Amino acid sequence: MEIKTLKDVQLDGRRVLVRADFNVPMDNGQITDDTRIRMVLPTISYLIGRGARIILVSHLGRPKGAVKEELRLDPVAQHLSNLLGVEVLKADSAVGSEVAEAVSHLGKGSILMLENIRFYPGEESNDPDFARQLASLADIFVNDAFGTSHRAHASTAGVADYLPTVAGLLMAKEIDMLSRVMEKPARPFVAIIGGAKVSDKIGVIRNLLDKVDSLVIGGGMANTFLAAQGIEMGQSLVEQDKLELARELMKLAEQKDVELLLPVDLVLAEEFSASANSRTVDAGQGVPSGWQALDIGPKSCQLFSKKIADAATVVWNGPMGVFEFDAFAAGTDAVAAALAESESFSLVGGGDSVAALEKLGKTGAVDHISTGGGASLEYLEGKELPGISVLKGEK
Ligand code: ADP
Ligand code: MG
Repeated sequence: MEIKTLKDVQLDGRRVLVRADFNVPMDNGQITDDTRIRMVLPTISYLIGRGARIILVSHLGRPKGAVKEELRLDPVAQHLSNLLGVEVLKADSAVGSEVAEAVSHLGKGSILMLENIRFYPGEESNDPDFARQLASLADIFVNDAFGTSHRAHASTAGVADYLPTVAGLLMAKEIDMLSRVMEKPARPFVAIIGGAKVSDKIGVIRNLLDKVDSLVIGGGMANTFLAAQGIEMGQSLVEQDKLELARELMKLAEQKDVELLLPVDLVLAEEFSASANSRTVDAGQGVPSGWQALDIGPKSCQLFSKKIADAATVVWNGPMGVFEFDAFAAGTDAVAAALAESESFSLVGGGDSVAALEKLGKTGAVDHISTGGGASLEYLEGKELPGISVLKGEK
């Protein structure tokens, strides 16, 4: 997908409005994970180097259109300043005369962070008037908020109606990686889909069935597929109302000549807890009453790892088991290890999948970790993302 990036435009001395995703987890005013801030550093450093006048805009949390003192962006501005080693000015509003005044005093390479954009109802309603006010602060719009690109808000999409719009470096990398696997994957192309529920991933599975050679299903959602084949699943998480859908998806895979792999064995627990009694059974045997499947078993690990080893492209979304409990993390760990070993181009998306990689210390195992949980899922579903669509327009 061809899009313009900030490397394609004149930046020197120009006022550049940068939409970032600084929606970091906070605990009592402290940032507990600064990954999202660090991801935007390349774009900001590039802009500083080019002498742009930088205006940063982001949301934090869910203030729902009203000022929430605890959701002001001051700690983010402070932290960014520490990371960059340069001053980051912070405005107490995001539009209006005070901000315009602050922008007019910005020197080349200087940074002003606007207040939490979701303090304004016009942000989430994508009010054109609000977008126009925001756009009036700048000469160029750089969208670097991939994690928010599935939202059509004023600061992610609306402003593009009033300003020349280009992608930031993080956004450009995400689009490059995701479009590479979805548009021209090296084959065989294998997708590994896990996580709790089929219902969360229907769109992803359907879209991937048109793209992949093999679809591997693990995690809680595999239970529903196994149950759909008439296998007793005991107390396992099974979506009874999705059995028909699971059968339909299996049939669809057959029609499209996609190999569909389900777990061949399961690790069972006597209760949903980290210290539960556990045992391993073949999937065909079913799950005895009182037990529940919380992970894929060792034979499945081998089978899935072999698929990964033979693939040229792998997309992974969703853990293979309840990886939060060490006793049931082996399946997820095996998939991560197989990815680390393989020569394939590998991409991981989804909040919990990334968390699982982090917990297992295997973030280095893959070629690309997609930062936006919801956004990367919608991309894998084949949906149009408003924050990306604006980058394709001729402006
Ligand atoms: P992602 O955020 O990567 O898209 P999901 O949110 O779909 O992933 O799924 C992650 C959750 O699925 C985890 O909290 C994990 O504990 C849960 N899960 C995985 N396997 C099972 C299982 N067999 N039973 C119950 N929950 C499961
Ligand atoms: Mg999740």
